[in-house]
Amino acid sequence: MTELQHLASTPLRGRLSRDVPMRKHTSWRTGGAAERMYQPADLEDLLVFLRGLPAGEPLYAVGLGSNLLVRDGGLRGTVLMLHGTLSGLHLELDGSIYVEAGVPGAKLARFAALQDLQGAEFFAGIPGTLGGMLAMNAGCYGNETWEKVLRVQTVNRHGEVHVRTPADYEIGYRHVMRIEDRGSRIEKHPPALRSSILDPQSSEFFVAAWLQFSRGDADSARQGIKALLSKRIATQPLNLPNAGSVFRNPQGDHAARLIEQCGLKGRRIGGAQVSEKHANFIVNTGAATAADIENLINEVQAAVKQQTGIKLHPEVLIIGEAK
Ligand SMILES: Cc1cc2nc3c(=O)[nH]c(=O)nc-3n(C[C@H](O)[C@H](O)[C@H](O)COP(=O)(O)OP(=O)(O)OC[C@H]3O[C@@H](n4cnc5c(N)ncnc54)[C@H](O)[C@@H]3O)c2cc1C
Repeated sequence: MTELQHLASTPLRGRLSRDVPMRKHTSWRTGGAAERMYQPADLEDLLVFLRGLPAGEPLYAVGLGSNLLVRDGGLRGTVLMLHGTLSGLHLELDGSIYVEAGVPGAKLARFAALQDLQGAEFFAGIPGTLGGMLAMNAGCYGNETWEKVLRVQTVNRHGEVHVRTPADYEIGYRHVMRIEDRGSRIEKHPPALRSSILDPQSSEFFVAAWLQFSRGDADSARQGIKALLSKRIATQPLNLPNAGSVFRNPQGDHAARLIEQCGLKGRRIGGAQVSEKHANFIVNTGAATAADIENLINEVQAAVKQQTGIKLHPEVLIIGEAK
C-alpha cells in the first residue's frame, strides 16, 4: 500500500507525514525512513485514526526511539509517534500520578519530586517515554516500571480503550505480555516486537498509566535524581548516540562483563563501535549505518557464545528492512 486510504468519518487533527527518516526519531541516529508517520493531536484523535485504519496496515508505536534500531531499508506501514503528544501528567485525588504514554521519564521523575513523592527518581535516567518504559518494563538500580503501576490505559487496533491492572499481565525482566495473549499468534513474535505489531486479533498498546509512589520530600528526591544522573555520566558513553544496553543480562551475570572478558571492547564495524566505557553499549561514532550496528551485534553475540557458551539476547528492538 503506497497511499494510506484512511477511512475516518471524523476529520483527523494530527499530523500525517511520509518518508520520515527514523534517524531523527531514534537515539542511535541512524536507519531508514518510515513509510508513514502519524502524530495524533491527542487521545481522541488517536482513536479516530485507529478506527479508520485499513486492516492490513502495519503499525508501530514509537516513543523516543531509545531502544530501537530501524534497518537502512526503512519501515513499511505507519509509525505512531507518541512522543510530543499524549503528554498529560497530573496528580489524582487519591495521590497517584496519571501519566500519558508520550511523557519522558525525566519529566515524570521531576514531577513526582515536586509533589513530595519518592520512588520515581530512577525514571530520570531512562531516556524513553512512559509508553516505551511500560512496553519494556524498563528499570535500573533495583527498580522496575511495573512495580509502580496501579492501572494502565490501553487501546487496540480498532481504537477501543481498556483499563487494565498488573494482574492482567505476565511481567518480568524487560518483559511484559498480556496474559490473554499467551498461546496466541502474538506469542510467536520476539518479545520486543509484540507491542509494536498490534496483532489485529489481540495486541494493545499503552496510552496512559496511574502510578503509585510513596510519600517523601522534594529535596531528597531531587538529590536522588542528581546522584543517579552523575552515576550514569560516569559509567555510560552519553557523548555518542547509543541505545543503552544492547543485550539483556543473562541470569546471574552481566552482558557487559562477558563482552569485556571476550576482549570485544572497542571492536568496530564501519561507524559502529563497542563502547570503551561500557561494553554493553554500542555507539555510533558518526556515520554508522543500521547494518553496521546490527552486524556488530551479531558479531558480539557469536564471539561471546563461542568463548563462553552463553547466548546473549538483544534487549534492543530491531525492525524494518535491510537495504
Ligand atoms: C543512554 C541510554 C540509557 C538507557 N538506560 C536504560 C536503563 O537504565 N534501563 C532500561 O530499562 N532501559 C534503558 N535504556 C533503553 C530505553 O531507554 C528503554 O527501553 C525505554 O523504555 C524505551 O522507551 P522509548 O519511549 O524510547 O521506546 P522506543 O524505543 O520508542 O520503543 C521501544 C519499544 O516499546 C514499544 N513502545 C513504545 N511506546 C509504546 C506504547 N505506547 N505502547 C506499547 N508499546 C510501545 C515500541 O513499539 C518498541 O517495541 C537506555 C537507553 C539509552 C539510550
